[in-house]
Amino acid sequence: MNLIWIAWELDRLRWVPTGVLADVVSRDGLCIGAFTDVPPWGDEEMTDRELAARMCAGCPVRDECLELELRTAGADTVGVWGAMAAEDRRELYAHWLRRGERAERGPCS
Ligand code: SF4
Repeated sequence: MNLIWIAWELDRLRWVPTGVLADVVSRDGLCIGAFTDVPPWGDEEMTDRELAARMCAGCPVRDECLELELRTAGADTVGVWGAMAAEDRRELYAHWLRRGERAERGPCS
């Protein structure tokens, strides 16, 4: 998992207002309202990484969900969001904070 690449990919959402991200995720998120009861895999033992891969597979708003969680929870994030486990998002967070710096600094001399 290349966290620097993921952070740069999320940079395209940098100027999207947080409220818009929240609306998109709550409207189109695969897990939102998908499970009115225990999900099909609810009784299986799995790590958060496995759960993220399973639950978020095919979700059309994974990047928006991840961007939203990084903005709102930052390093205090818990659970599965944006197809990532909390430990991976905490590691990503440092890269996410630095995204775009190179572009803002301008060309190297
Ligand atoms: S990325 Fe995962 S946690 Fe986020 S809305 Fe989609 S299914 Fe839910």
